[in-house]
Amino acid sequence: MPTPIYLDYAATTPVDTRVIERMVAHMSVDGDFGNPASRSHAFGWQAEEAVEAARVQIAEAINADPREIVWTSGATESDNLALKGAAFEASRRHLITSSIEHKAVLDCCGFLQQQGFEVTYLTPDAWGRTSAEQVREALREDTLMVSIMHVNNELGTANDLRSIGEVCRSNGVLFHTDAAQGFGKLPLDVEAMYIDLLSLSAHKIYGPKGIGALYVRRSQGLQLAPQMHGGGHEMGMRSGTLPAQQIVGLGAAAQLMVEHMDSEHAQLSALRQRFLSHVRQIPDTVVHTHPEQHVPGIVNVGFAGVDGETLLLALPGLAVSSGSACTSASVEPSFVLRGLGIADDLAHSSLRFSFGRFTDAAEIDSAAQQLATTVGRLRGS
Ligand SMILES: *Cc1c(COP(=O)(O)O)cnc(C)c1O
Repeated sequence: MPTPIYLDYAATTPVDTRVIERMVAHMSVDGDFGNPASRSHAFGWQAEEAVEAARVQIAEAINADPREIVWTSGATESDNLALKGAAFEASRRHLITSSIEHKAVLDCCGFLQQQGFEVTYLTPDAWGRTSAEQVREALREDTLMVSIMHVNNELGTANDLRSIGEVCRSNGVLFHTDAAQGFGKLPLDVEAMYIDLLSLSAHKIYGPKGIGALYVRRSQGLQLAPQMHGGGHEMGMRSGTLPAQQIVGLGAAAQLMVEHMDSEHAQLSALRQRFLSHVRQIPDTVVHTHPEQHVPGIVNVGFAGVDGETLLLALPGLAVSSGSACTSASVEPSFVLRGLGIADDLAHSSLRFSFGRFTDAAEIDSAAQQLATTVGRLRGS
């Protein structure tokens, strides 16, 4: 069987070879393999220099100060550190989030509820957007934090972070955003958007798995309770030997994203148009992704009357998913689609197509063709 066409870039991306080249230089005996925390010799200093250069790359990508970047193992850990780390240092007991956040945020909220915190879950609109007005209405005297994602991983729909951030800042409430899907793809500016905490991950932007970062605003005097105890690395917020090769990979991947943001956005938008023009010819299809406010590389489509799992099985030539990789083990319809008020049967018949840097027009055409044929066959027409 030929290799399927990879249309699951929202689950993870291949590592760009330019990124791999940078990483390899920090591993073997003839490279800079030192421990960045070794202060007594050149091996350590060189590794530290590479880590600090990457910190500058991440900071510049979001208009932050390098001292505000904390390395983590990925966006899941960044979300945990942001939510639990802030909650356990605070006297306020109330958090606001949305019902379609990534599980890393939702499960932290569930855990915090068990610890006596109160959480308001906002219901987004039909496209998956949460408004600043909804946030404003949910604010309480004891609200500590608002956590609203940048781009939803199942839908590709993007929130207006600036307007939400403005409400948070003017009410003295912390604003966290999980930007794993939007970082490097849409402009992000922690100053202009009033962001206090921001989670990001390397493996969604052609970097390696197992590395991410949390932006932590300094001027808020924000102290996060560490979730990992040890040597006191990363200003005491995240202990553990810094994986220099992973960090260098994240920095290089981020720099490539920022450098080529406009051209890559245009290239992916063209592929999206191409894909949608094919898909719209299939009767009774519904696009769940917001028509304008989105990352171009994710489209969520429902095929009425066709079961999504059956469709997946009937499409061995396509590597796609019926939701996020994290929930695809369950047979429940996607909680994200349900959270938009979409009926169970349509939610069940929806697939997420996500493409990226290495997708070409021929793959899009072939994928759309396979879809049209298979949906038609399953509908018995
Ligand atoms: C992928 C993803 C995560 C998890 O990131 P990891 O680095 O794999 O832990 C969190 N949030 C969103 C929105 C994601 O897309």
